[in-house]
Amino acid sequence: MTQLHAYRAAILHSLGDPSQVGLEDSYAYYEDGLLVVDQGIISDIGPAEAVLARLAPHTAITEFSNKLITAGFVDTHIHFPQTEMIASYGEQLLDWLNNYTFPEEGKFSDPQHAQRVASFFLEELLRNGTTTAMVFGTVHKASVEAFFTESHKRNMRMIAGKVMMDRNGPDYLLDTPESSYSDSKALIERWHKKGRQLYAVTPRFAPTSTEAQLSMAGRLLQEYDDVYLQTHLSENKQEIEWVKSLFPERAGYLDVYDHFNLLGHRSVFAHAVHLEEAECQRMADTDSVISFCPTSNLFLGSGLLDLPRVEGHGIRVGLGTDVGGAPAFLYYVPLLRLIKSSNFKNINFILLKLCIWLL
Ligand SMILES: [Zn+2]
Repeated sequence: MTQLHAYRAAILHSLGDPSQVGLEDSYAYYEDGLLVVDQGIISDIGPAEAVLARLAPHTAITEFSNKLITAGFVDTHIHFPQTEMIASYGEQLLDWLNNYTFPEEGKFSDPQHAQRVASFFLEELLRNGTTTAMVFGTVHKASVEAFFTESHKRNMRMIAGKVMMDRNGPDYLLDTPESSYSDSKALIERWHKKGRQLYAVTPRFAPTSTEAQLSMAGRLLQEYDDVYLQTHLSENKQEIEWVKSLFPERAGYLDVYDHFNLLGHRSVFAHAVHLEEAECQRMADTDSVISFCPTSNLFLGSGLLDLPRVEGHGIRVGLGTDVGGAPAFLYYVPLLRLIKSSNFKNINFILLKLCIWLL
């Protein structure tokens, strides 16, 4: 027996990527719309008048006048352990990591702390309209265990992973190539595709992993060919120079990841603000994805991604908040400010991009 429920409100939903199909064909908007749900699955949508005419009699209708129903937002880059340090301000990336991020992440060796923050974090995401996110834990296996437990309880679609980090951090946050491999493997076995949970192999960024550890990350991707990969790339010029000094035999920052077979259509690289032309081409050739985090980039003074340039190369781009480098979970208030002050011409375009990230 069907259990229909209908919701009446203004409805906005995405039909395609505006950079590919054009703005006009990229969305549908019904000022007075009706959304019909059948046992948790959308079964009909359209202008209320038209949908009412074909709706089964006696269907319950909930009215939300002056409200907008839209698809859940997808946040392609966020750190749940940084929830309690949102908007820690004003230093460049590397100092910021040492002064704010690492001490905060150290607390996640305590599973109860991890569980409490995961719960708060997921509630905040929902409150801001985000239903799917790609999430960094900490180096502690227990942090991701707690996170997936809370996400599974809420039936949210989360892609998350344990940070792999075996150098250039404080001792209390370092693992080893072997332990990062076995902990990640255990988490994949337990959580990948359990309900709506998905796993992402998560080396923090090239400077905090040895070659041995990056090899292990590549091995995990080879052994489990449907897991994701998330890391950081070319956020800041000082960081890029550091990577070049740590990996002098590689052609550049992206080539470090490429060498260990970490590129691909399930690989998401946060920031990628300062890519060279050859790197853009390689990202496109491997169908790798950029997570564009404008609020974080502006906040930490890292520069801003040249969106038309990377999309011109055919690189897929999603939006991320990168909490706590960003001032909020919420995209659109800072984005509206950004739009006003930059060359983004069309607010609709940006709002629609939020809804569309095709994995
Ligand atoms: Zn980040």
